[in-house]
Amino acid sequence: MARGTITIDEKRCKGCELCTSVCPKNLIQMATYFSARGYRPAILVDPHAQCTGCMLCSTICPDVAITVYREMKSRKAQLVAA
Ligand code: SF4
Ligand code: SF4
Repeated sequence: MARGTITIDEKRCKGCELCTSVCPKNLIQMATYFSARGYRPAILVDPHAQCTGCMLCSTICPDVAITVYREMKSRKAQLVAA
């Protein structure tokens, strides 16, 4: 399973909470503070590195606030693992 992580741009997030509902690992929560725009932004809470980089959160975000990063195994590593 690929490992992943995300960043959430607080300047774009309007706190709609859609991303919190779709993460299969339940890794996205709403912050307790307010952003400069006056919204409680979404934050990644992933202390055990469970994000798979599935992109469900970035796909549903209407404000394009989420960027997903996925760890890619090199072809050589895949061949060694095979
Ligand atoms: S990429 Fe997938 S696993 Fe990672 S935070 Fe987004 S929805 Fe959750
Ligand atoms: S879906 Fe996008 S705008 Fe809505 S809370 Fe998540 S990051 Fe913020």
